[in-house]
Amino acid sequence: MNNEIPAMGVIPAHLRALLYLWLISGLWPTPAEAEWQRQSFQTMGTQAYVEFWTEDSSQGPLLISAVQNEFERINQLMSPYLQSSELSLLNRDASQQAVTISAELYQLLQQAEQLAVLSAGAFDISFASVGFSYDYRQHVKPSVEDLAAQRSLINYRHIQLLANNQVRFAKAGVKIDLGGIAKGYAVERSMALLAQAGIQHALVTAGGDTRLLGDKRGRPWLVAIKHPRKSDDIVAQLPLINSAISTSGDYERFFIEDGVRYHHILDPKSGESPSGLMSVTVLGPDTTRTDALSTTLFVLGLERGMALIEQQADYEAIFISSEHQLYFSSGLAR
Ligand code: ADP
Ligand code: MG
Repeated sequence: MNNEIPAMGVIPAHLRALLYLWLISGLWPTPAEAEWQRQSFQTMGTQAYVEFWTEDSSQGPLLISAVQNEFERINQLMSPYLQSSELSLLNRDASQQAVTISAELYQLLQQAEQLAVLSAGAFDISFASVGFSYDYRQHVKPSVEDLAAQRSLINYRHIQLLANNQVRFAKAGVKIDLGGIAKGYAVERSMALLAQAGIQHALVTAGGDTRLLGDKRGRPWLVAIKHPRKSDDIVAQLPLINSAISTSGDYERFFIEDGVRYHHILDPKSGESPSGLMSVTVLGPDTTRTDALSTTLFVLGLERGMALIEQQADYEAIFISSEHQLYFSSGLAR
């Protein structure tokens, strides 16, 4: 008889059998199983999804909650739909006085400003000064008069980033919105959180912004680029490892009136939607940047957009023109 447990001899036979069962069964703390964790959820007005590999499956639900909470935290800070968000606070008060905001929002405003300078104003979060006059669901657009009056309010130079995390708008009526960058930021933050917890294989996606950590355990992740006119179709599937990818399209939020497509990306110069492209996808190391860049390139159009992306080390782009032509930046064409 196996005598590894010295006390065994004094335990009645029927209990001995139970003890043996207990020792070999799952009641004894056994190493947790490794497995894939997957969860879809609604946040920031869109569908989000997280998938990751854990060596310890008991860690899964906690990390899923952590990711969901991170999205919600950023939403509470930056949503234009919540009266209590810091963004709403700025839109309400910053034209009258300097408003102190969190360092986190301040830093994102700095990144937005940097993109505005880089793109000569194609990316401009003050697009909202006109943007808030559109309602794509209700097919509402600003009148010709309103557009003429509001257009001059769009100018990133009106957003003054002052010392000590203070922000002031230089003109009454200036409004900002972070729809072109906040989701990418939230995806990037969520992935950082998973990485800090020791996760090595993960995908986080929200709307058109996706971040991949590592590979899918031995093979690359596959990320699809949607067909801009057939919602169930894709135009390409990209095998990716350790990178970010964002798509901006004219088909996510739009309405068509008199043959004109009014969609959620606005050219700050005109206050109207650019029409040369149907979608732009940007790939690179950081989701905050791929998000903002995809919106930027969409506004710039094929020629100027291609010129800009060619100057960004580590970032590549895929354009789909209104004529259904695909164009790749040089790093992908190779
Ligand atoms: P999605 O919201 O579908 O991920 P994008 O990343 O392409 O799409 O961002 C589009 C959003 O960017 C718009 O809904 C709007 O909030 C914002 N936006 C539109 N035009 C501009 C612009 N010229 N500069 C900065 N942000 C913009
Ligand atoms: Mg974007």
